[in-house]
Amino acid sequence: MLRNQLRTPLTTFIRKTIPQSISLQSLEETIKNQPNFSTPSPCTFNTNAQTRVSRNPQIHLIWSSEFRGKSSGFCSSASSTTCCWNCKSQGPFLICQSCGSIQPVDHSVDYFNIFGLDRKFDIEVGSLEGKYKDWQKKLHPDLVHTKSEEEREYAAEQSARVIDAYTTLRKPLSRAIYIMRLEGVEVDEEQTVSEPELLGEIMEIREAVEDANDSQALNQIQSQMDEKLSHWYDFFANAFQSKEYDDAIKSIQRMTYYQRVKEETVKKL
Ligand SMILES: [Zn+2]
Repeated sequence: MLRNQLRTPLTTFIRKTIPQSISLQSLEETIKNQPNFSTPSPCTFNTNAQTRVSRNPQIHLIWSSEFRGKSSGFCSSASSTTCCWNCKSQGPFLICQSCGSIQPVDHSVDYFNIFGLDRKFDIEVGSLEGKYKDWQKKLHPDLVHTKSEEEREYAAEQSARVIDAYTTLRKPLSRAIYIMRLEGVEVDEEQTVSEPELLGEIMEIREAVEDANDSQALNQIQSQMDEKLSHWYDFFANAFQSKEYDDAIKSIQRMTYYQRVKEETVKKL
């Protein structure tokens, strides 16, 4: 995949010549001293290209310093300083609205930004799908085949990221983990549950799933899990809203568990 590559001349130059530990000031000086450099102030390209993709099948996250609201480059945020590489219009992040040029991936634009959503847990999942299809149409290889090779690569990278964003935000559990990560809170959904009451409940449900031999019994367990999930989604939304992150983590661990039970019943059906 092209995910880990940026092909703009400027970023290529930075990657090749600037050690990662260099100070911000030195970085700017070095770039300015290049013979072909012209200052496109206030716009600069985002250099936050170092990404790592989680292999956790439940959620595909792109790890970068932006998750904690910090910018490691000299471009502080997409909305205020990113500009089109072609026409220098301010504000584009996937495709420039002025000239239609496809932009390189900018990781300071989070998944909520991609779909024009506020960063909150309760989202309208129905509207997500419409916006997702819209982006996929705009970035589709058939529509960008007349563009330069560089832009076609940007389109492929943007398209992959839009898929990641959609997959992550569509499901409440992965959305919850992602939104916590944006707040700088890592959630270990595999952490062993130690509360006796919950452990007892887990054992009881496991036995019920094992004993369920017909679709009626399995459907009943599924309905119970849906009820529990719905309760913990609400609990998470409130805990997240009020920044009660311990409670938010607690609800994610329960959501993970009930979701797994639900998946087990689907397999048996
Ligand atoms: Zn443009």
